[in-house]
Amino acid sequence: MTDEGEGGYWPPPEHGPARDLVGYGAEPPVVSWPNGARLAVSFCLNVEEGSERSFAFGDAANEPNPDYPKPFPADVRDLTTESLFEYGSRVGVHRVLELFEDLGVTCTAFACAVALAANPSVGRRLVDAGHEVCSHGLRWTEPWTLGREAERDAIRDAVRLFEDTVGVRPRGWYSRYGPSIHTRELLHAEGFAYDSDAYNDDLPYYVEVAGDHHLVVPYTMLYNDAQMAGRVGGEEWLASLVRGFDQLLAESATTPKLLSIGLHPRFSGQAARTSLLREFIEHAQSTGQAWFARRDEIADVFTAQHPPPGPRTPTT
Ligand SMILES: [Zn+2]
Repeated sequence: MTDEGEGGYWPPPEHGPARDLVGYGAEPPVVSWPNGARLAVSFCLNVEEGSERSFAFGDAANEPNPDYPKPFPADVRDLTTESLFEYGSRVGVHRVLELFEDLGVTCTAFACAVALAANPSVGRRLVDAGHEVCSHGLRWTEPWTLGREAERDAIRDAVRLFEDTVGVRPRGWYSRYGPSIHTRELLHAEGFAYDSDAYNDDLPYYVEVAGDHHLVVPYTMLYNDAQMAGRVGGEEWLASLVRGFDQLLAESATTPKLLSIGLHPRFSGQAARTSLLREFIEHAQSTGQAWFARRDEIADVFTAQHPPPGPRTPTT
């Protein structure tokens, strides 16, 4: 807790969860990934094209695409940007999934429910190939604008639509734009096994939520393919992936870690960039020490080896 002992400098915030600037510190837990792998690599494929903000959806703004950013009025349909997003859904997602199938990689799809409803064959392909469908929300919304009850309804609407379109209830959640102060508590109450609304660690960890323990599988933005959006070359992105992988792999000799890599079909599904992605996967596979894992598998392995301390008695 933040009001006593180590890390007690900051007072508990008036609203929402306490901050934890200590974490595992110098003594992270030791996790044994399956088959003696040293480093877990989690590809997070954002299957979301068609759920972005757009005037066509009745939104107050058109979401820009960094591959072709341009000023555009908020109250006119931006057909160019709509089309740039559509490439991901029509072509890019299949190119990336083809690569994964070719190299035997499984991933987690951060999927928006409306994106799969608009393109059900992608949902079927994800499930058939053994990928995880993790909820990225109903569509791109800003949960902090909704209020607690409406946010809970939106979470339930998303779950229902996933069940209707892919026959799967997501076990994880990753918020587009970011969570509200209620999101984690609502997800825990709705039975989600984990969320990825955190960027503050290299390993899963528990947080106290409503007197219980909730698992966080942290994510990162550094290796996200959006880093190369709007640029001709992605060599810098590839170099960053390889360096991150090599460094974490070395550290994993004593404490196995997790590398998360965010991908978007509209970016990584462009041919030149899929080629970069292939090069990275082949590099990682050449070490024989990478586990390309779904995030729910990572959550399950971690929880089995480091079970939560058990429900706490809520402090009044
Ligand atoms: Zn996303």
